[in-house]
Amino acid sequence: MSKKGIAVLGSTGSIGASTLDVLARHPDRFDVVGLSAHSRVDAMAEQCERFRPQWAVMTDDVAALALRDRLARSAPEVNVLFGHGALDEVAADARVDAVMAAIVGAAGLRSAIAAARAGKTILLANKEALVMAGEVFLAACREGGATILPIDSEHNAVFQCLPPFWRAQAAQPMAVERIVLTASGGPFREWSLDRMALATPEQACAHPNWSMGRKISVDSATMMNKGLELIEAHYLFGVTPANLDVVVHPESVIHSMVQYVDGSTLAQLGNPDMRTPISHALGYPDRLTSGVASLSLPAIGRLHFEAPDLLRFPCLGLALRALETGGAGPCVLNAANEVAVEAFLGGVIGFMQIAEINGRVLEHLGAEPAGTTLEAVEDLDRRAREMARLLVKAME
Ligand code: NAD
Ligand code: MG
Repeated sequence: MSKKGIAVLGSTGSIGASTLDVLARHPDRFDVVGLSAHSRVDAMAEQCERFRPQWAVMTDDVAALALRDRLARSAPEVNVLFGHGALDEVAADARVDAVMAAIVGAAGLRSAIAAARAGKTILLANKEALVMAGEVFLAACREGGATILPIDSEHNAVFQCLPPFWRAQAAQPMAVERIVLTASGGPFREWSLDRMALATPEQACAHPNWSMGRKISVDSATMMNKGLELIEAHYLFGVTPANLDVVVHPESVIHSMVQYVDGSTLAQLGNPDMRTPISHALGYPDRLTSGVASLSLPAIGRLHFEAPDLLRFPCLGLALRALETGGAGPCVLNAANEVAVEAFLGGVIGFMQIAEINGRVLEHLGAEPAGTTLEAVEDLDRRAREMARLLVKAME
């Protein structure tokens, strides 16, 4: 069996590290062809020394020089590249069969599109790329002959509950009545609005079940993450907003469900560890060991469910509105949210002001038509960021 060539974009992040953990368990199956990181030289150097990829991309050029210096002694066979253009090259490299798209935020869009145009299998963790550029991304996949396999645990769960060999496409799978995404409710599930208004970045990043990067941790605390995931599900599975639902399930054991017209509900269950969806997508259609222990239901005892509270989590309602009105909504909401979350993490704005900024940008720019080219999408993204930055400034 020839080995599958893998590029892990965003390899120093939480998803990147979990991906390398799974890959290291199967050296006979996978060849790590490329790695990328933004600026963490030490973490990247260690990964390069261990996995010996053909390419190591640092998007920050000063960091690239430092990495080149260090690897000249310890791993001279690794070619160090820098800048976002290099990401696109590695994503499209002939030796790469599958690209793990695990850069956080809009910064990962161009390389994901490059992988799509080159017909790769895209293991999609970077939901923001799909939310901001849904139609453009899917069109690039169709034209390039690329396949998306979802890494987001909910979408991976849905994928596992759909008929075998179903592929991401723009039509609702036959006989599917509804897709139900589960949400943990995040660290503030039981907090009052007054208490949330004073929440600190540390409190927002202390997720009860999942260990993740800081941006998605804040998104889980505002429940914007679930909103982005509704939009992601719409694009991945071709479902209309009316056929999508969210249920809060604090234990994060059921990762999501598919309801069929005959009254059947299929669910995927597991311990909350991203190595499960990662190994599912890496091995697909085979199953691989992932290092995750299987579930013990007696040890868990009880599972709980409740409806989401849109009053305390307005970001979820904003995402629903963006999904229902379509057009530029998802793109500008995502851009505003990236700016607002960064400002919150930097201590510049309060937790509830994230939703305020997101709401105002969506109101002003959400009615515009969706971008139909990558450039038009990036222009919308830039304008939404500019407006969000002005709003942040006014709140300082
Ligand atoms: P993270 O912050 O831990 O890692 C992000 C990675 O992206 C790092 O390798 C970093 O070097 C790189 N990066 C950051 N900014 C960059 C830039 N401007 N240019 C190029 N590279 C850049 O994030 P994460 O938690 O691993 O999440 C990655 C993606 O996966 C996000 O889109 C997130 O929504 C999605 N996701 C994560 C989880 C999870 O459990 N962590 C679950 C589902 C989906
Ligand atoms: Mg998720």
